Amino acid sequence: MENHLRTDESVSCLKGVGGAKKALLKRLSIVTIGDLLMHIPIRHLDRRSISPVSGLQPGADAVVCGKVVSINRARRGRGRGRGPSLTAVISDETGSIKLTFFRAGFPGSKLEPGMSVLACGKVESFRGYNIVHPELYFSRDAVTLAEAPGMLPVYPLTAGITQGTIRKLIESALDSVKGSLVDILPPGIVTSAGFPGRWEVFKAAHNPTSPEESKKALNLLALEELFLYRSILSAVREKSRSDHGIPISSFPVSDFESTLPWSLTSAQRQVCDEVSTDLCNNSPMRRLLQGDVGSGKTVVAAYACIATALSGKLAAILAPTEVLAVQHYSNLSRFCSSFNLEVHILTGGTTTAARRKTAELLKEESGSILIGTHAILEDWVPLDSLALLVIDEQHRFGVAQRERLLESRNPRPHALVMSATPIPRTLAMAFYGDLDVSVIDKMPPGRGFTETRVVAHSDRGSVFQFILKRLQEGERVFLVYPLKEASELSDLKDAASAYETVRNGPLAEFGTGLLHGSMAASEKIAVTEKFTRGEISVLVSTTVIEVGIDVPEATVMLVANAERFGLSQLHQLRGRVGRGGRNAWCFLVPCEGASHISLERLHLLASTSNGFVIAEKDLTMRGPGQVLGKAQHGIPKFRVADLSTDGHLLREVSKMSPIPLRRIETLMKGQMWRYGEMSFTGV
Ligand code: ADP
Ligand code: MG
Repeated sequence: MENHLRTDESVSCLKGVGGAKKALLKRLSIVTIGDLLMHIPIRHLDRRSISPVSGLQPGADAVVCGKVVSINRARRGRGRGRGPSLTAVISDETGSIKLTFFRAGFPGSKLEPGMSVLACGKVESFRGYNIVHPELYFSRDAVTLAEAPGMLPVYPLTAGITQGTIRKLIESALDSVKGSLVDILPPGIVTSAGFPGRWEVFKAAHNPTSPEESKKALNLLALEELFLYRSILSAVREKSRSDHGIPISSFPVSDFESTLPWSLTSAQRQVCDEVSTDLCNNSPMRRLLQGDVGSGKTVVAAYACIATALSGKLAAILAPTEVLAVQHYSNLSRFCSSFNLEVHILTGGTTTAARRKTAELLKEESGSILIGTHAILEDWVPLDSLALLVIDEQHRFGVAQRERLLESRNPRPHALVMSATPIPRTLAMAFYGDLDVSVIDKMPPGRGFTETRVVAHSDRGSVFQFILKRLQEGERVFLVYPLKEASELSDLKDAASAYETVRNGPLAEFGTGLLHGSMAASEKIAVTEKFTRGEISVLVSTTVIEVGIDVPEATVMLVANAERFGLSQLHQLRGRVGRGGRNAWCFLVPCEGASHISLERLHLLASTSNGFVIAEKDLTMRGPGQVLGKAQHGIPKFRVADLSTDGHLLREVSKMSPIPLRRIETLMKGQMWRYGEMSFTGV
């Protein structure tokens, strides 16, 4: 009866899985047969690597198998409690070795004399050979482990489930799907990696014959996972072509441009044209607008919002922070001044009275613009006539979140997603493949040149002299530090303690302020405004300035411990200076012990201002996770693929043509795969 199960069938179809076990498995996120297949071993124990105790060498990672001959439990309340709480001696035919536990409780507490155990860990030499806190397998497990041929999988567990249990379940899951697994990857890719089919790939991931085979299999599974995700995104996009949108009346870009104090750059004009075409279309726009910090994305958003509002509909801009929302509000108000359109702002800090007023106005008006943080998505906000949602700084919002926002509305609003993180093509396809992409690749004219220099720690004095001079010229300065709180364990300069130094030093007379992530939103806004107005000229901060500060007078940035930041992040940071016509300087000061490689990275940053080149470098040196930023909400937790190491797989995936919509629909109906929280209803 266990034969021929589908991957989407419940684990309870397997023999021996009743209610209790089902609940335990759920704790491991295992619900279906497919989940069992995807429960990938943490590692494998190579049976061939079990060493005779007499052959052990200190420092080696060893696997030993023997019987417990004695146990010594520390008595409580004696001495200062520094010694081990338990030691056990195990021996095989060749000798004996001590296992030492400093923590009471599992697994040491389970040991009894006479038990067979298999212990893994690093051999230390301290009053004889010793393994501290070994990984342990008891009795029956230990015997099977020691006697089994080849490599044995070691799985992530939860209390109540043993290696033996999970291993057996996975084996029967594998048996039950033999012959019925559907292919995901193009067959050529699987066979050229040396596997006859997908089933054999799973088999090798769990029970490989060699470490190399295991690695190949895991690689294929990671590739499959990324490929499937990419295919889902492209299916989402294809499917929405048939969604009903809200066509907007045409609004010539030139009419808009004539109200601006400057002319659009050719890149801006082209993107506005693309947006214009999308908006007039029957199906909803789904567009990603990428452009470096300062490239002028806001004006494109303004164009889209104004076109929508002139058409009698509501346009909204969703900003990740209150600071950014306020800034968009003042920019949009300026852009709208020639159009007699209302612009509203709504954030977490908006008072109840103001909220009520805004809600009323939104209901009455036809054609307006609403700007705010997540507060604009709360139930009481009347978004009935919402026809355009602009999402600023994409990397804080994910696909699933975005879909949830938009697909519940019928007709579905247009979506314009703006990102200042240049995303290399390979990544864009893998993670933003549900969107059409527009790029602003040229900076507006009249901007100064930003020179980036890597400065040795010992040369910081001269940088401070330079900073003093710029301040005397009336310019403004950012001092950026990686952490807010000083950590006792490291001598990293943190923003708060640096601020203390700065405001008691020679820079103090120019006015100083501190900006960090854990300040209240109102405090952040207050200090940002002081800096914008020039009441203070030195802003000491953490990376919160990364998004949202636009101060043309800011010409110098110093980044301390610069090697700790990703290149893309540093690139974003330095985009905060040189926004006026004046030249600007960005000083990267690595800490004294910075590695050669990290210095090389900083020098690369100094040598180019092209965000895409930098992102590509980050991608190869530090992995996709680095480029996409820390707050990757919505980027799924992959089970096998690892975004910090699998950049090469993304490149491979970007060359493959995605699985067609119809097939994806069938696959998803069978819940082939679940990406954490993410589900694509309707796909
Ligand atoms: P970002 O892409 O980082 O959001 P912004 O939209 O904030 O960039 O634009 C950066 C600055 O450039 C703003 O001060 C804006 O007024 C100015 N700007 C934008 N487009 C042009 C243009 N075509 N000509 C001159 N200045 C421009
Ligand atoms: Mg912006």
